[in-house]
Amino acid sequence: MHPAATRSSQKTIDQFAKYVIPNYRRYPVCLVHGEGSYVWDAEGKKYLDLFPGWGCNILGHSPPKVVKAIQRQVEHLIHIPNTWFTEAQGDFAESIVTRSFGKVFFANSGTEANEGAIKLARLHFANPSGGTQKFRVISFENGFHGRTFGSVTATAQPKYHEGLGPLLPGFRYAPYNDLDAVKALVDDETCAVLLEPVQGEGGVNIATEEFLKGLRQLCDERNMLLIFDEVQTGMGRTGHWFGYQHHGVQPDIMTLAKGLAAGVACGAFVCQDHIAPSLRPGMHASTFGGNPLAMAAGIATMQTIEEEGLLAHCREMSNRFHQHFTELKGTLPIIHEVRSRGMMIGIELNIPATPAVAKCMERGVLINATHDTVVRLLPALNISPAQVDEGCKVITEVLKQMAEEASTSRSSE
Ligand code: PLP
Repeated sequence: MHPAATRSSQKTIDQFAKYVIPNYRRYPVCLVHGEGSYVWDAEGKKYLDLFPGWGCNILGHSPPKVVKAIQRQVEHLIHIPNTWFTEAQGDFAESIVTRSFGKVFFANSGTEANEGAIKLARLHFANPSGGTQKFRVISFENGFHGRTFGSVTATAQPKYHEGLGPLLPGFRYAPYNDLDAVKALVDDETCAVLLEPVQGEGGVNIATEEFLKGLRQLCDERNMLLIFDEVQTGMGRTGHWFGYQHHGVQPDIMTLAKGLAAGVACGAFVCQDHIAPSLRPGMHASTFGGNPLAMAAGIATMQTIEEEGLLAHCREMSNRFHQHFTELKGTLPIIHEVRSRGMMIGIELNIPATPAVAKCMERGVLINATHDTVVRLLPALNISPAQVDEGCKVITEVLKQMAEEASTSRSSE
């Protein structure tokens, strides 16, 4: 038993069965403690976590500087609504904006950040005297933007829409990286183009520079806003503070969440200065958004990334992962393609990837599989070279085993 546990994993699993809506497919372990890239279950088994917090724990589990900042903050104020000013919100807004652009609004999650961004885009083009306004949004196949109605409608994946209709009107979907397809969908009622600079849940699909630049030009020509969903790519995840900085294509609105406060619930959208007044008082709000607890965690997260040189470190560790799996691809034909941008790593297989998750977990490594065939890693920015190697070794063993199993089952058919 781990000292942080009060009971076995099984007891907690039984409790969930009785009291928690079973809409998640959960692995049968109860996690009780984490430190950096390691996490422990109730029975004391240690795991190397290469997908900490689904990308939220950008500094790994319970990073000491963030823990201290939270402890300091809770002794003074936990929650203050937006009818007052707080130093913490001002400081975190300054930290974000001085590394990006414009002005910021705080929410609590990625889906909320995207809802706000969609509302802002429509409000920006609202015609105060009534009549036709620009309201359509173009988003992309295999994108992921969240689960509330605006965000899930923007998420162009039929599996997430099943049974939910009617969805929010005014959305059109284009294939990713296909500028001509976007051009064909634009009309005078289109207010925004919304995309992830790297699709995460969609399988670590990277937008080309040409595509992003083309979208920027198209939005300028047709008077539309370019919205980047940087919920996953923001906060240093890709080796730059924000994903858009790779190619210098600045969006009009950028949404953030996940790693923004190193695991404390926090979302935000940032918009260019001239757009900000379109979010008129009374048109949007969040009770918890911008609360001092999340803000203190966010400030400490940015400070840690800066002080510990984690952007450069992230790029180095990314190369280490990429090189390892690219070499492996040469000897293991089940690997179709290796895609990475910073600490977003996708290994696309030509067989189903899901079995890799349980097999790695048995060997003490936590990973994710997405879009049927993609092994996905979102390691902490401060993962060490030794931990990268430890993870690569286990994943390699598992992929080799899966390759053997696939060839055995093919030869016995
Ligand atoms: N946008 C992107 C790119 C995401 O990856 C996610 C979550 O995975 C979301 C939005 C939704 O964020 P949340 O689950 O915090 O609502």
